[in-house]
Amino acid sequence: MLFDDLPEEKDTIASVLVPVAVPVAYTYKVPPGKTVVPGTIVKVPLGSRQVLGAVWDTEPDASINPKKLKAMTTVYDKVPPLADDLRKFVDWVANWTLAAPGMVLRMVLRSEEALEEEPPLAGIRRVEGHEPDRMTAARQKILQVLEEGVSGTKSTVAAAAGVSASVVDGLLQQGVLETISLPAAPPPPLPQLDFHKVTLTPRQADVTKGLLDCLDKGSSVALIDGVTGSGKTEVYFEAIAEVLRQNKQALVLLPEIALTEQFLRRFEKRFGVFPAEWHSEITTKNRERTWRGVASGSVRVVIGARSALFLPFKELGLIVVDEEHDGAFKQDDRVSYNARDMAVVRGHIAKFPVILASATPSVESRVNADSGRYTKFELPERASGAELPELKAIDMRHDGPDRGRWLAPDLVEAMKETLADGAQTLLFLNRRGYAPLTLCRTCGHRFQCPSCSAWLVEHRFQGRLVCHHCGHTEKVPDACPKCQATNSLVACGPGVERIAEEVEDRFPQARTLILSSDLPGGAKRLKREMQIVEEGGADILIGTQLVAKGHNFPKMRLVGVIDADLGLAHGDPRAAEKTFQLLAQVTGRAGRVTGGGKGLLQTYSPDHPVIMALMSQDTEAFYRAEIDARRAAGLPPFGRLAAIVVSSQDKHAAELYARGLAKISPHDSAVTLLGPAEAALALVRGRYRFRMLLMAPRQFDLQGYIRTWLDGAPRLTGNLRLQVDIDPQQFL
Ligand code: ADP
Ligand code: ZN
Repeated sequence: MLFDDLPEEKDTIASVLVPVAVPVAYTYKVPPGKTVVPGTIVKVPLGSRQVLGAVWDTEPDASINPKKLKAMTTVYDKVPPLADDLRKFVDWVANWTLAAPGMVLRMVLRSEEALEEEPPLAGIRRVEGHEPDRMTAARQKILQVLEEGVSGTKSTVAAAAGVSASVVDGLLQQGVLETISLPAAPPPPLPQLDFHKVTLTPRQADVTKGLLDCLDKGSSVALIDGVTGSGKTEVYFEAIAEVLRQNKQALVLLPEIALTEQFLRRFEKRFGVFPAEWHSEITTKNRERTWRGVASGSVRVVIGARSALFLPFKELGLIVVDEEHDGAFKQDDRVSYNARDMAVVRGHIAKFPVILASATPSVESRVNADSGRYTKFELPERASGAELPELKAIDMRHDGPDRGRWLAPDLVEAMKETLADGAQTLLFLNRRGYAPLTLCRTCGHRFQCPSCSAWLVEHRFQGRLVCHHCGHTEKVPDACPKCQATNSLVACGPGVERIAEEVEDRFPQARTLILSSDLPGGAKRLKREMQIVEEGGADILIGTQLVAKGHNFPKMRLVGVIDADLGLAHGDPRAAEKTFQLLAQVTGRAGRVTGGGKGLLQTYSPDHPVIMALMSQDTEAFYRAEIDARRAAGLPPFGRLAAIVVSSQDKHAAELYARGLAKISPHDSAVTLLGPAEAALALVRGRYRFRMLLMAPRQFDLQGYIRTWLDGAPRLTGNLRLQVDIDPQQFL
């Protein structure tokens, strides 16, 4: 044969990062006739599986016998390769969080389907000049829908005409209509930059100008520190408009899916279209479309949860992190990263600005703004001109409710007045369910989760006891499982359901609504109910922290905090900050539009610095004191923290490993190692947990230290697991 004497073509090889927890990329053969560049998305065999990966920047290992190398299965050459800055970002996040880069890449490459175009749909349209043999009213309607140039699928056209699909079939048979192929998903409509501009207040206009200056600077971070209702959203919309004008894409991160609905409507009002959504509640199909649209550039604005940070934007020009102080930006499983901080990193790497917005910024961001690293913009007044709510503490030691009741007389009185005026009340309690603890009056037995060190929470609507850590549930039994006494179980303490019971008893005529994430109906129901509240269709709202965040309820006048002390008693260095933020946010829901708002805080410690700071509305004093205390204690952001959790189903094995690990920790006078100690949540999902906490000065390379340490650690055997959490937010 003619070609037989040609020299055998040398195989080309490439490094591929695959989604497993190994520190390096693997080497694969490039299939003949294909070319790859760094960032090309590929499918490769890995053990017995086929996995998605991406060609990485590292040198392939040329020393491996080519015969032993496996070839890539698929090269997705129609999908744009992952950009340089995204690859750098993946490596950066891996390096920072001590996760394997492949595990970070896995957050970028979510699904194989997203890499393939959707097959076209079968559509129908009118054939010019062909009339039906006989005109009926139903046929007439179809032809009206399909007037010149209009097309659609059979079912959408039939639905739009309000007739059955068989009418369409009839017209198709007669050649009046023909089938055509339609793109599965037409590109989403573009935001209209001048769709509806509001007239900014002078202060808002100043801030907008400042933000636009930041956009010119390339990489920079702006912090919008503005009271609830001051127009933070309105001003960052202007920044988004400018970015879109420059033909770049924008991403808005929100901490909570429940906030999405309101945001979508706000965005539509300003830009005439909805942005793309990215979070766990969207359908697989929409998720795939958004992924592709972001990569191709047809999607210009995404609103999403923290995972949206890993989308492969074609030309991202701005990230906004709204409610930037919120702990929900921290992911604690697998790769434990803080999306707010990593957003700043992504902006830095790709040289675009990042806007952080909050009414109660994190201490970290405040310190960065004070030191000039971030540019701070303040909006101290509400856009409506409404004054901030008047706040009062109710001292539960003297002025509390009767036994078995949870609403103090002063709060009940204020609720009556609010109701009489046709305004809304929000009762806030950060506890789902009916009661946090159930016990047997006869023998004292307490209901505990079999696989966690946690009490079971009674959910009366469901008639079940539920573990909030692992989801274990059991039916509320008729008799005590220990002493068999009947009618002997008592609920201790309140959850939102129990508050609702008291409200319904005291205000039977009021329209009462519980907003909690665990009620039947899920996100859909929640969306609807949020809208009901916004439109004034409820009088008294009882909610968990879900309602504390970002919502704008125009008729809300009174906010009652059932247990203001709830968050204060933690071994958590951010407990004061978190409580301050949560209570300031939740009371900030009152009187946002009309003014006259009032907040009542039920507390057993009215002299606690956090409660005092809230009452005096002296936010600055609170931040000053908190920042000073952190500085003195060497806590973040002045010092660095990392947690290491060793867990196992075998308690002894976990403890032994943790102690052994601590013993071989490299000596460094800069590092303080606390523990190992049994974690506050000692048992979760059947795993016993031991924690260590590392503290070091700010400049210290804590990741480097931990890496060296763990390199010398004994292998994890059995079901031992070790998790590193850089800058932990949870201390349980
Ligand atoms: P924040 O994000 O600070 O809580 P928003 O941007 O949501 O504040 O504004 C609060 C409310 O005030 C919204 O309903 C918004 O539409 C309205 N608003 C803000 N600024 C203006 C303005 N300049 N003119 C008219 N309405 C405004
Ligand atoms: Zn449990």
